[in-house]
Amino acid sequence: MIDAERKFRAYLSENDLRFTSERLAILLHVMSLHEHFEVDDLHHQLRQQGLRISHATVFRTLALLIDCGIVQKIPCQKMPARYEHIFGHDHHDHMLCLRCGKIIEFQNAPIERSQEKVAKEHGFQMTGHHLIIRGYCEKCR
Ligand SMILES: [Zn+2]
Ligand SMILES: [Zn+2]
Ligand SMILES: [Zn+2]
Repeated sequence: MIDAERKFRAYLSENDLRFTSERLAILLHVMSLHEHFEVDDLHHQLRQQGLRISHATVFRTLALLIDCGIVQKIPCQKMPARYEHIFGHDHHDHMLCLRCGKIIEFQNAPIERSQEKVAKEHGFQMTGHHLIIRGYCEKCR
């Protein structure tokens, strides 16, 4: 069993939710993807694997995976939201191109430190964050 599955099982049982074969299939597929994806792509790929799974099930399972910290949602304004698994990966933030939808990942230590400092100044106990810089990529600007 992979660590993500262990974590998901623990989360489901804590919340009195069942660990179903559909939920497992979605989790395993999400963990195998290393790009940002849309719900529709994920649904399509699962169906191509022969899984008879509804769009609603995919959507609901993703919401659970986000809640338990395995998946992150990247809101994309007027474009469909993108998702990615973050479990087992170093923290990173995103830039989103509003014209072509390109997503650029970045890590920047001074930005990270500044956010921790700001939170502390407000007596705020920070447990996480996700920063999205919106704008236009090199090709679209
Ligand atoms: Zn960050
Ligand atoms: Zn662009
Ligand atoms: Zn990312």
